[in-house]
Amino acid sequence: MSDCIFCKILKGEIPSKIIYQDDYCFAINDINPKAKKHILVIPKEHIESLNEVKDFSLISKMFEAIKKINSQENITHFRTQINTGSQAGQEVMHLHIHILAN
Ligand code: AMP
Ligand code: ZN
Repeated sequence: MSDCIFCKILKGEIPSKIIYQDDYCFAINDINPKAKKHILVIPKEHIESLNEVKDFSLISKMFEAIKKINSQENITHFRTQINTGSQAGQEVMHLHIHILAN
């Protein structure tokens, strides 16, 4: 989607360091971290939120990626969070899973 921050990051139109990527998703450090380590795992396909997911194997792939990212970043204790919908705090309307570790 052309005016989506995360799609622009994936296309290299907004500078950001991609710390992990595979066929399904990529990960970046959150620009406004709410924990010592705050990583966003983002599907490469533009899907607005969890409410729009049709094939839930994607979510499984994203959690597989989380395990790899955590290993890469030496994270063992962490929380994951998915905000869905603006009233639940979703600011970027492109599905993402937060990894939060202190
Ligand atoms: P959410 O509130 O669940 O939609 O989370 C969106 C997250 O994206 C927030 O924690 C923001 O700090 C983060 N964010 C917004 N723009 C960027 C960016 N350009 N690079 C990295 N993280 C971003
Ligand atoms: Zn997008």
